[in-house]
Amino acid sequence: MTNFSASSRDIKAVRKTHFCDQCGKKIEPGDPARYAFGVWEGAAYSVYTHPECSKAAHEYANLNDLWEDEYPWFQHMDDSEFGHHAWLLENHPVVAARLGVKCEVPA
Ligand SMILES: [Zn+2]
Repeated sequence: MTNFSASSRDIKAVRKTHFCDQCGKKIEPGDPARYAFGVWEGAAYSVYTHPECSKAAHEYANLNDLWEDEYPWFQHMDDSEFGHHAWLLENHPVVAARLGVKCEVPA
């Protein structure tokens, strides 16, 4: 049982500035975005994310079986706990760059 419901859709071009809930960076007017909305524990919410960030989070959730209240929100995740930075760098460098993740390969 879950009291979680959600749906989402792709927006070709947002009309005003939003902040991506995954990376915390701006989504500028005219940029594409993924818009998700639903009800979480009785409270309505809506989030905007960059299409790339949304895709990366979904992939990460699939890989690690993180759903509902465990769903990854990269900007709030501690790399020392999740170790997601290396994965992002390798698989989603665009998202890693937005999060300010630097390559940590020792020189
Ligand atoms: Zn983003």
